[in-house]
Amino acid sequence: MAGSCIDNAMKRGCSGYCRSCGRDHFLPAEPARKAGLALMDELAAGKCLVSTEQDSCQLSRYGTASLFGDARGKMFGVMVAQDRSGGEHIIRAFSGQFRGRWIVPGWAGPLFDRAAYRALHDPQETRIKLLGTKILDAVPGSAEYQALVKKRKALSQQLMQQLHALYRLNNFKGEEAGLADIFLPGQGIPTGTGDCCAPKLIHHAIRHDLKPLGIVEFFWGRENASGTRQHGCLYSSCRAKCYPLLGFMLCGLG
Ligand SMILES: [Zn+2]
Ligand SMILES: [Zn+2]
Repeated sequence: MAGSCIDNAMKRGCSGYCRSCGRDHFLPAEPARKAGLALMDELAAGKCLVSTEQDSCQLSRYGTASLFGDARGKMFGVMVAQDRSGGEHIIRAFSGQFRGRWIVPGWAGPLFDRAAYRALHDPQETRIKLLGTKILDAVPGSAEYQALVKKRKALSQQLMQQLHALYRLNNFKGEEAGLADIFLPGQGIPTGTGDCCAPKLIHHAIRHDLKPLGIVEFFWGRENASGTRQHGCLYSSCRAKCYPLLGFMLCGLG
């Protein structure tokens, strides 16, 4: 199965439309192909994101077994980058959270400040969950029930907007933007925007003064519910979420 599902992504790589330049910016996949395949081999052998001689504690936190169960698989990404003295760096990322964690040692982190995210997210999430319990207790269709459902929806939307505001995007021209600056007003920001591997990796590169040479992204685990992502296949960067982001983030990469 490897052949065809890898070749297509290798051609397309990672790209996005830059509004400021009025054209696409592109990062190839080929320079990261070897590192991507090496990570697949490592995951296949170690079945863990943090390999410390099969430490059982690490395995229970960072093991990949869950990716093959009900939770299904996820995207992983590898970037090959260069520092100012020409040294090569290989950086890894997973999409979204890995088993409830944004931060995993040795992997690129998210595009927001973790402490600020937690301070905002955790108390709001508790309120939303509490409303969920009240909704279960209310009589479906009653005025109270409808008011609770409405309130929960409003709180969720508000939280999403507030969380989106925490994401900081940079590019190679030294500019900074928020998600709301990238997506046009009224366009709506898809859930999970900024949480894919490519933006995490490019964010890491900018913050650490590295020049990305290439990125590959692949899916690992049980195929996704819609069947569009298969275990061990490479995919080019996504259209709905990353295409607008990467246009901005890759701008100025000479
Ligand atoms: Zn994406
Ligand atoms: Zn540009």
